[in-house]
Amino acid sequence: MRSIRQELEAKRDALTSAISSSTRATREGDHRREIVKDPLGMASLTHDDEVVAAVVDTRARQLEEIDRALADMDAGRYGICRECGEEIAKARLKILPFATRCVACQARLEQGLGRAA
Ligand SMILES: [Zn+2]
Repeated sequence: MRSIRQELEAKRDALTSAISSSTRATREGDHRREIVKDPLGMASLTHDDEVVAAVVDTRARQLEEIDRALADMDAGRYGICRECGEEIAKARLKILPFATRCVACQARLEQGLGRAA
């Protein structure tokens, strides 16, 4: 359990610095755009900025999941499936340290989503 926590904390640190460096890069991009004025005066994002924004968004979500997993550990409910309350298999947690559902519930959920789509 301790090793998963350490892994999560290391991941959280890496994500935090990745997010701040991406945000810095975006800001530098903004500065560049101010110099080279858009002839149409459009404030729309360039494709590169959209990619950066999407990456930051994904990382921010991962960061939330990690924070939640760490909070769950503190509360003593880490590794418990949110759907059925059963313990999530250790092997699954090794691969997906912030999984909140057991394999069976996750599969059921994904099947449900597949049907809905
Ligand atoms: Zn379950």
